[in-house]
Amino acid sequence: MYLYTTCKTCSARNRIKSNATTRPDLERDKGVTFVFNCKDCAINQSTHVNDVRAEMSSFPMVLAIVLGLVLTVLLYIVGWIAMATIAIPFYMWRQQQNDVHFFNSYRL
Ligand SMILES: [Zn+2]
Repeated sequence: MYLYTTCKTCSARNRIKSNATTRPDLERDKGVTFVFNCKDCAINQSTHVNDVRAEMSSFPMVLAIVLGLVLTVLLYIVGWIAMATIAIPFYMWRQQQNDVHFFNSYRL
């Protein structure tokens, strides 16, 4: 999951660097309103925590698919053929979907 906000001047998406998984965590990390620098127009502007949105990132999914493939090969070598190829990416996808839904559904 990654967090972003939209620039009020040029409407560019700007990623917010934070490990917060909920809006209250983001408020504790950055404050109710915080200043960010737009990567496109380089203008500093303040934004409210409620203007930050969450979206699923693809890196954990790719990592989960690779891990699932490796585990499947290992399980095949050991003699256990399991659904690790599908189960791990599905679990990661479901977890990210829950995190994004929870972040976006809660406002301060
Ligand atoms: Zn901008």
